[in-house]
Amino acid sequence: MFNDVKTYTEAHHVRLVAVTKTRSVDDILKLYQAGQRDMGENRVQELLAKKEQLPADIQWHLIGHLQSNKVKSIAPFIHLIHSVDSLELYQTINKEAKKAGRVIDVLLQFYIATEETKFGLDYREALEIISFHKNNTENFVRIVGVMGMASLTENETQIRKEFSKLKTYFDQLKEQFFANDSNFREISMGMSSDYKTAIEEGSTMVRVGSLLFR
Ligand SMILES: *Cc1c(COP(=O)(O)O)cnc(C)c1O
Repeated sequence: MFNDVKTYTEAHHVRLVAVTKTRSVDDILKLYQAGQRDMGENRVQELLAKKEQLPADIQWHLIGHLQSNKVKSIAPFIHLIHSVDSLELYQTINKEAKKAGRVIDVLLQFYIATEETKFGLDYREALEIISFHKNNTENFVRIVGVMGMASLTENETQIRKEFSKLKTYFDQLKEQFFANDSNFREISMGMSSDYKTAIEEGSTMVRVGSLLFR
């Protein structure tokens, strides 16, 4: 289904991040040969192992929960970290980005689902990070938007409501803190089962895995 998803996202001017977790290097190479460059992994060790065996111009996205002690190993090259879910993690990324001599783009991951298991910030916690960011004189992190995962449910009304909530968070932050910052523009939401709904609700970047390999 890769070509279908690619065509659909391109038609809607939405970036497709191909989620390649658990897939083989050969599977990823096939996507690469079909033109895909944005690849997402949720575990650092797996990402590093695959990166070594794949073309250097792949743009790697870290989409899963990230432990602070793993940041150092991805800081030199990571294209976008979708999963900033604490001030501590933000600060670690800033420190490691400085050491690596580059600026790292990140998204603030919001908790929008009704399940207790998902990681993510509430609005107040996000404000804490942004406040730190705004007052920091040595910024090696660029906050380029927000990310969220909807509940694991078949209930489309529920999913739509959660995506809409994330879009509202984005709009509020944009207006309050990033009105003059054109880099703050990404809303990473939508997976295999709900990416079309996410796009209807304002997604700019979908993270699609299993569907691509069907
Ligand atoms: C696995 C994963 C995806 C993709 O899920 P699919 O249902 O396979 O499309 C998207 N985002 C995150 C954070 C993931 O861990």
